[in-house]
Amino acid sequence: MPTPYDDMWEKLNLDLTAHEGLLQVLGKFYGDIYLSQEGRLQGMEYLDFVLSEVHGLRIKELQAAKAQGRKIIGTFCVFVPEELVIAADAVCVGLCAGAEIGSDAAEKILPRNTCALIKSFVGFKLARLCPYIESCDLVVGETTCDGKKKAYEIFGDYAPVYVMEIPQMKQACDRDLWKAELGRFKAKIEEITGKTITAAKLKDAIKLVNARRAVLQRLNRLRAAVPTPISGRDVLLINQISFYDDPVRFTAKVGELCDELEAKVKAGQGIAPAGTPRLMLSGCPMAVPNWKLPFLIESSGAMIVGEESCIGTRNTRDLVDETPDTLEGMLDALVDRYFKIDCACFTPNVERLDHIVDMAKDLKVDGVVHYGLSFCTPYAMEALKVGKALDAAKVPMLSIETDYSMEDVEQLKTRVEAFLEMIH
Ligand code: SF4
Ligand code: SF4
Repeated sequence: MPTPYDDMWEKLNLDLTAHEGLLQVLGKFYGDIYLSQEGRLQGMEYLDFVLSEVHGLRIKELQAAKAQGRKIIGTFCVFVPEELVIAADAVCVGLCAGAEIGSDAAEKILPRNTCALIKSFVGFKLARLCPYIESCDLVVGETTCDGKKKAYEIFGDYAPVYVMEIPQMKQACDRDLWKAELGRFKAKIEEITGKTITAAKLKDAIKLVNARRAVLQRLNRLRAAVPTPISGRDVLLINQISFYDDPVRFTAKVGELCDELEAKVKAGQGIAPAGTPRLMLSGCPMAVPNWKLPFLIESSGAMIVGEESCIGTRNTRDLVDETPDTLEGMLDALVDRYFKIDCACFTPNVERLDHIVDMAKDLKVDGVVHYGLSFCTPYAMEALKVGKALDAAKVPMLSIETDYSMEDVEQLKTRVEAFLEMIH
């Protein structure tokens, strides 16, 4: 069926039939998983609208930015400092990789036992499915896990790719490496945009990204109330949208949603009946439209009240220090803030264990669901340590490994229900 955006899709060289197929899957998932929820907040209308236009208005905005000479920079990891991108007047978009479509194409050039996230981003490119990837002037990869690191070499045959080196430990020499990498990235962004990153521009960019993190922190504080006023699915969606929506508009809209939530919390109104089990997710990121596990959990009678994940608190917990005024001071502040990220790619990674236990206690959860994508070695290995740390804190944990397919839905549902029976 023709759509009002077909001309734009053709210009971006998308495969129209495959793209239409993706939109249909996305629309159906969204209807089943999101729009069917009862007692939805008014403030979610904006998020519903953004998602309905994810392959529409937002792409038009990106094309308009390009027409003004601004560059579009795509990223796959929360390690990429978007403040530097924004300070060069470019647009930063987090590229989602949460759908199975395109994986067949990816499996032709990647080992089958590669995590679903990597297969998804390679598959989206090969199958010409993603208008965000096709809009990018540069895609920034990173050397986090081995799978990603090697996949960017392959991805680089199809798109302009730049790879940042991420240290694997947190010693003084690793900080030096990371600082040098930030400097190299700044130079690359300046080269591609033809703009110089000044202290004034960087200061504004730091404030802008901090404001978006701060509103998400406020959202997390509000949803921590007992009973929780918003579903975990909705908060996940808000986090997912934060990666590609306009940051100023997004921050304002989520602020309005928080005002609505504040009133609900004051009135003691929850989204689910009192006594509903409270769970927390921990582990690999869940990119759009990977809503499988949260939907299974919440349709089994529990509520998710926190995500210890890169599409969750790992991305919003730390702000950049806004006090430095010199460019050098601001770069150091960025180095320090990003160096706090506790991805399982680091060794040792005790901070993550501490954060998980603290979060579980603060959120008063009845249990934690550790989520690993199949074939993700860093998170699968670390799940054992997370389980031990939670056990010592007397918080039950269920460890789940899955991918984007729907084949294991029944089996996962049975495991989630058994876990809920055990903890409640
Ligand atoms: S889990 Fe690690 S590799 Fe993945 S987005 Fe987060 S920081 Fe990056
Ligand atoms: S989920 Fe795991 S294997 Fe996949 S890209 Fe992230 S760290 Fe790598």
